[in-house]
Amino acid sequence: MEQYTPMIRQYLSVKAQYEDAFLFFRLGDFYEMFFEDATRASQLLEITLTSREGGTEERIPMCGVPYHSAPVYIERLIELGHKVAICEQTEDPKQAKGVVKREVVQLITPGTVMEGKGLHEKENNYIAALCCQIDRTYSIAFCDLSTGESRTTALTTLDEVVNELSTLRVKEVVTTRDLDEEVKKTLQERLSVTLSYEEQTAEQGEFGALMGEAVIPSLRETVHLLFQYLHRTQKRSLSHLQPVTVYEIHQFMKIDVYSKRNLELTETIRSKGKKGSLLWLLDETMTAMGGRMLKQWIDRPLINKKQINERLAMVEVLIQSFFERQEIREMLKSVYDLERLAGRVAFGNVNSRDLVQLKKSLQQIPMLKEALLQIKSEAIQTLSNKMNPCEELTDLLEQAIIDNPPLSIKEGGMIQDGFHAALDEYRDASRNGKDWIAHLQQEEREKTGIKSLKIGYNRIFGYYIEITKANLHLLEDNRYERKQTLANCERFITPELKEKEALILQANEKIIELEYELFIEIREQVKTFIPQLQKLAQLVSELDVLQCFAEVSEKRKYVKPGLTEDRELIIKDGRHPVVEKVMDSQEYVPNDCTMNVRREMLLITGPNMSGKSTYMRQVALTSIMAQIGCFVPASEAKLPIFDQVFTRIGAADDLISGQSTFMVEMLEAKNAIAHATNQSLILFDEIGRGTSTYDGMALAQAIIEYIHEQIEAKTLFSTHYHELTVLEETLPQLKNVHVSAVEQNGRVVFLHKIKEGAADKSYGIHVAELAELPRELIQRANEILMELEKKGKPNVKEQEAKPKEQPSQTAEPLEQLSFFHESVSAPPQLQGKERKVLEELKSYDLLEMTPLDAMNVLYALQKKVKK
Ligand code: ADP
Ligand code: MG
Repeated sequence: MEQYTPMIRQYLSVKAQYEDAFLFFRLGDFYEMFFEDATRASQLLEITLTSREGGTEERIPMCGVPYHSAPVYIERLIELGHKVAICEQTEDPKQAKGVVKREVVQLITPGTVMEGKGLHEKENNYIAALCCQIDRTYSIAFCDLSTGESRTTALTTLDEVVNELSTLRVKEVVTTRDLDEEVKKTLQERLSVTLSYEEQTAEQGEFGALMGEAVIPSLRETVHLLFQYLHRTQKRSLSHLQPVTVYEIHQFMKIDVYSKRNLELTETIRSKGKKGSLLWLLDETMTAMGGRMLKQWIDRPLINKKQINERLAMVEVLIQSFFERQEIREMLKSVYDLERLAGRVAFGNVNSRDLVQLKKSLQQIPMLKEALLQIKSEAIQTLSNKMNPCEELTDLLEQAIIDNPPLSIKEGGMIQDGFHAALDEYRDASRNGKDWIAHLQQEEREKTGIKSLKIGYNRIFGYYIEITKANLHLLEDNRYERKQTLANCERFITPELKEKEALILQANEKIIELEYELFIEIREQVKTFIPQLQKLAQLVSELDVLQCFAEVSEKRKYVKPGLTEDRELIIKDGRHPVVEKVMDSQEYVPNDCTMNVRREMLLITGPNMSGKSTYMRQVALTSIMAQIGCFVPASEAKLPIFDQVFTRIGAADDLISGQSTFMVEMLEAKNAIAHATNQSLILFDEIGRGTSTYDGMALAQAIIEYIHEQIEAKTLFSTHYHELTVLEETLPQLKNVHVSAVEQNGRVVFLHKIKEGAADKSYGIHVAELAELPRELIQRANEILMELEKKGKPNVKEQEAKPKEQPSQTAEPLEQLSFFHESVSAPPQLQGKERKVLEELKSYDLLEMTPLDAMNVLYALQKKVKK
């Protein structure tokens, strides 16, 4: 340390406290970084790396960004998952003895951004804390610092933790250093979050009121850890934080990460974007807060019948009240993000424009309540009654802030006339002075006869009288004092002018100072309304989501679902909501789905591209939509309430991630089978496809049997193994359905229509034809198929003739497929020439041959059997 200059020593001592962050060290108009920080930041931010003397022989690496453009760079580092510590000068350099004092004023982290691109208006930005108990259970607490909302829950497995945190799209996890290394690794690998560490101190009741519903010690500990971290890093008032609420994951429908992804609830698999997801389809919200709530609702469908029916009933009346709804939508459009605004007020970074927005938003509320009163529904009335328009605050803002204030709060021009007597006086003085000057200009023009004489102002010389060179001769000597000579004019002053100038400038300075003070005062007053604003925000968001459901449901002709308790599921003319919306001109083919105690499982067969996956997903999406309280895409729907939905896709179908292996497929399947109950909905889409035919089919069948016997969950199972359709005969609750296709002129036409019974034929070759594979190849495939069918037929017949007494299922389909086997091992009916070729083929030791040799042998063999 000793060898460094005092400033570098100061830098190093601050940096030691923020080792895991980039330290933005304020030097004049720049934030500078040094040493390792500088080398890394220069690469990440693509800025020039320089160096400076620091007292040692070697120069110190340095790079910096200008103060005014720092937000862009900070944002970029945060986006990459880094943290940035902002270190400011905390004393006036002019008064400093030695090195100016500097302190970190805020630590910005991925979970604590308050503004900028990192904060999407329709998405929450969560930071979570995680604690692991001695019995290896977990508790998590999370908070959106921008809105002040926090929640906590206890979880039993790490899987549940990962599931919750990924559903919440948590950006940063705060935990203690002694957290199990395995757990840390899992979090980083499966969630790609920034991990932050906070020391667990004995709880001292400092967050007493905020503890809210957190009563259990393990939850309190976790919430405490989170708040302590927020306070330590943000170093400012966080008075907008709301008391924590406790929830349990069992209070909502559980949809694990894989299923959410597969169903494309909030983002699509391919682009990871919102467009094309259920959220995108449903999002007719008018406010940012409503948008965030919609997303929360989709992530957590309800399982309580009463709550679901309450939402559905409100959506229903809103659909019936078309005109009122349009009015409400129009008003919501002018409601600003009250929730985040409250957060920024507490944080101390609102400007007067934000307060104008707040005022305009609050002005909508009485009208909104009025419009709601027109709707004859008790639930809506209650919602309306709960909305507190905060009239006092509206009044204050109306009286205090002008309509178009400047961005800066340090230039004046924000406060209304008549709001504050002293301010009015200064303004009078300033205005009078300006009037006097305008008057003087007029007077002097007349007296001197110089029409172009004008009075101007600049920062250096203040007010001056300007006369062009051409007119100078008209000016009598010594009328004014000469001040400045320019190329084509002269500038003058008079003692009187300077006197007025002093008055005006003084007044202006006072105005700016006073306006700033008043603004801060008003802001403090707004702070006292934060809890009311947050409550209001909540109610407005709720209304916004409900009207959004009504809007979409009406527009897309959705119906109100009925909720059943007798295991019955009836969907008439069901549609996949997103596919239907995306297919603009083509007609979407609606399909029914009936399931009940006699039909708990549907085995779906049909050619590729016929619509199996779409059909299964539409059933799941319909259930989820119903359970979030929205109408559903059908002409009639009766649905049970599902506790969980599982969606699994065979690996070969999951082209998207590219990394999906058979192991992943099986792990996902295991997860579903382990957790599903008889109240769950399972979609297995071509499970078993990721491995060889026999394996895959055996597994598929075993899975079907297991679910049928042990779990009894409602299950849709699509498969390309036709052989599985015989299961209908032995499994009483399993029924075959298929997607029909017809052949027209040797080509297959998909009707996308689900029908009872098994599909009779695989149209694979026709699909290949559609895909325009070479004609020769198609022809050959047809030949092979015909041959196989010829050989296969007796086999199939035999099967059909067999009495239906096959309880040992696993061996069954293998037998069915045995003709594949036969064509490979030397079957007796081969002709002489072919048998010889086969014998020869067997005799080669392939491991001893080069690829070229093998190719030659193959060529020779083929030639022998080819006509
Ligand atoms: P599969 O799973 O049987 O291979 P998909 O469900 O992936 O088939 O459907 C293939 C395509 O068929 C979809 O992308 C969609 O465009 C279309 N499709 C599916 N179902 C329907 C339907 N009911 N009406 C109209 N088009 C449909
Ligand atoms: Mg499919």
